[in-house]
Amino acid sequence: MPNPRLIVALEAIAANSAEVVRRAHARGVAVAGVTKVCCGAPPVAEAMLSGGVDMLADSRLENLARLRRAGFDRVPLMLLRLPMLSRIAEAVSLSDVILVSELAAMRRLGLAARGRPVQAVLMVDLGDLREGLWPDQVVQTAAAAAKLEGLALAGLGTNLTCYGGIKPTPANLGQLVALAAEARRATGLDLAIVSGGNTSSLPLLWEGSLPQGVTHLRVGEGIMLGVETIARRPLPGLRQDAFRLVAEVIEVQKKPSVPLGEISQDAFGHTPHFADRGWEKRAILAVGRQDCIPEGLLPLRKGLRVLGGSSDHLLLSDQAGLGVGEEVEFSLSYGALLAAMTSPYVHKEFLPNP
Ligand SMILES: *Cc1c(COP(=O)(O)O)cnc(C)c1O
Repeated sequence: MPNPRLIVALEAIAANSAEVVRRAHARGVAVAGVTKVCCGAPPVAEAMLSGGVDMLADSRLENLARLRRAGFDRVPLMLLRLPMLSRIAEAVSLSDVILVSELAAMRRLGLAARGRPVQAVLMVDLGDLREGLWPDQVVQTAAAAAKLEGLALAGLGTNLTCYGGIKPTPANLGQLVALAAEARRATGLDLAIVSGGNTSSLPLLWEGSLPQGVTHLRVGEGIMLGVETIARRPLPGLRQDAFRLVAEVIEVQKKPSVPLGEISQDAFGHTPHFADRGWEKRAILAVGRQDCIPEGLLPLRKGLRVLGGSSDHLLLSDQAGLGVGEEVEFSLSYGALLAAMTSPYVHKEFLPNP
C-alpha cells in the first residue's frame, strides 16, 4: 500500500449528504454539496449526488472543469468564489450559477453568456467582512443587475464564519431574507435562491431556527467531517469517519523531550518551546508539511500524541509501542484534509459507496 495515503469512505460522505439533505428539504431548503476541500474529486461528488444534493459547488474553475470532464451534468454546478475578470469566459462555460458582488463582473458575465443567460447570486456581507455588498448597496445593485443582458439574477446569498468568525443567527439571516424581499419589489424578479451560508448555518437547521425564506445552503465541511463550524462539535446524525490519513513509522527511539544544545529557530523560522517530560519513546513518520498540517492530525490509536512536524517528518510521543514499518492512522482537521487532498505526495484511496 502506498504511504502516506488518505482513505476516503465514500459511504460516510453519501450518508452525511443524505442526512443534511433530509433536514434541509423538510424546511424547503436546497443543498449545494461543496467539493472544494476534495479538489472537486469526482468520486466525492458522486457520493454527494447519491445522498441527494441539489447542486455541486466549488470555489475553483479547475475543480469545476474536473467535474464537467467527469460528466456531472445532472445537477447545476455553482462557482463559489467571485469570478476573476481575467477568467470570465471559463467561469461562464464551466458554471450554471455564479456568486457575484461586482457589477463590472456581472456585466462581463452577461456579455460572455451566449444563448443561455448566466444565473447570478448577489452576495451580501452581513458582517463577516469577506465577500459581498454592504446591505445598504444591495437593492440598488440588484436593480442594476436586473437590467443586464445575458445575466439572470437568481437570488441573494451570504457567507459567514469564514474571515470574521461571525455566527449565523436568526437576526442576520433574517436580514438577508428581508433584503431579498426588498430586492424582489425593486426588480420584479423571483430571486428564488436565498443562500443562507455554509456549514456554520447547520446548527440553525438542526435546531429548527433557520429563518423562513432561506431557501439554499452551501455545505462542505459538515458533509465531509460531520461537524458544525461554530465550535466544531459533531452534528447529531452525521458521521465523523469519512477520512483517515495513514503514514508509516521510519524511526522509534528513546530521546529526551527537550532538545539538547542552544535553541535557535526551527525549519520554519519559529523559536520553539519545549516542556520537559524527561526521556520518552519518540516515533518518526514519513509524512510532513508537504502532505498535510501536522497540528491538524489526531492519532486514532491510544498512547500516541503529535509533537510536531517539519516538511517531511512527523514526530509522535509513543506510549503505544510502535515499531518501524508500522502504519499509523489519523483523523484530520479541515485544514489538514485540504492540504492532504491537495498534496500530490499523498495517495488517495476511495472506499466504494455500496
Ligand atoms: C467554502 C465555501 C462554502 C462551504 O463552506 P463549508 O464551511 O465547508 O460548508 C460555502 N460558500 C462559500 C462562498 C465558500 O467559499
